[in-house]
Amino acid sequence: MKILISVDIEGVAGVYHSQQVRAGNTEYERARRLMTDEANAAIAGAFDAGATQVLVNDSHGDFRNLLPDVLDARAQVIQGKPRYMSMAAGAETGVAGMCMVGYHSRAGGRGILAHTINSFAFARIEFNGEPMSEAGLYGALAGEYGVPVIMGSGDDVFIEENRALFPHAAFVQTKQATGQNSGVSLSPQKACEAIRAGVMAGMGQLAKAQPLRLRTPLEVRLYTQTPALADLFCQWPDFERLDATLLGFGAPTVEAAVRMLNCCSAMSAMLR
Ligand SMILES: [Zn+2]
Repeated sequence: MKILISVDIEGVAGVYHSQQVRAGNTEYERARRLMTDEANAAIAGAFDAGATQVLVNDSHGDFRNLLPDVLDARAQVIQGKPRYMSMAAGAETGVAGMCMVGYHSRAGGRGILAHTINSFAFARIEFNGEPMSEAGLYGALAGEYGVPVIMGSGDDVFIEENRALFPHAAFVQTKQATGQNSGVSLSPQKACEAIRAGVMAGMGQLAKAQPLRLRTPLEVRLYTQTPALADLFCQWPDFERLDATLLGFGAPTVEAAVRMLNCCSAMSAMLR
């Protein structure tokens, strides 16, 4: 049995500030080590619960954060970008379930380091009228490949937002948010113990867990952070400008929608 573990950094215990999640400083170097430790805890839980293969997906920023020499040698790791499946890469390789470690709440929410894909570019993303978090977007993308989300870890706001989407998943609260850049965290050691147990609990629900399936074709609404970003994205002729900072488009699948959003995210670099 093969398990996919997608690892982001904003929901990792001890991480609160943008400096910790951006490469090029000593705070980041410490945070990526904490991220790698939480990944190792999840890998250990998966093997404890009977996985025969574990694929880890490095799912933050440029997707080159996890320290390969520190990662549990039993696992294989996907790193680097661009890649079409993004934070759900690996779901297309015949995995039984997906775990989301170090995830965070969506843009506009009250969680620690809340954002959706790109905090500079995207203020809100809706699929069929529902606001989407990264967990929702990539959980639905994995769902198109028949893969259920079985475990998630992050702060309390992340869990509150996503529990209903993944009713059989085991959620592990690593932090309680008291603001965008403040909260109360488990110690890294306690967070790792809870994540290891959470993956085991999630794998115990594999028979019940269902892939998240959204109604397609999708109606997507994208709220941009500035009108200039909407000007830029609407160069794409499939996009309809609905307001100064709002555009809409249709997508035949979640995968198509995610790829279009990731193109917008990449394009936004020109306005930074
Ligand atoms: Zn991230």
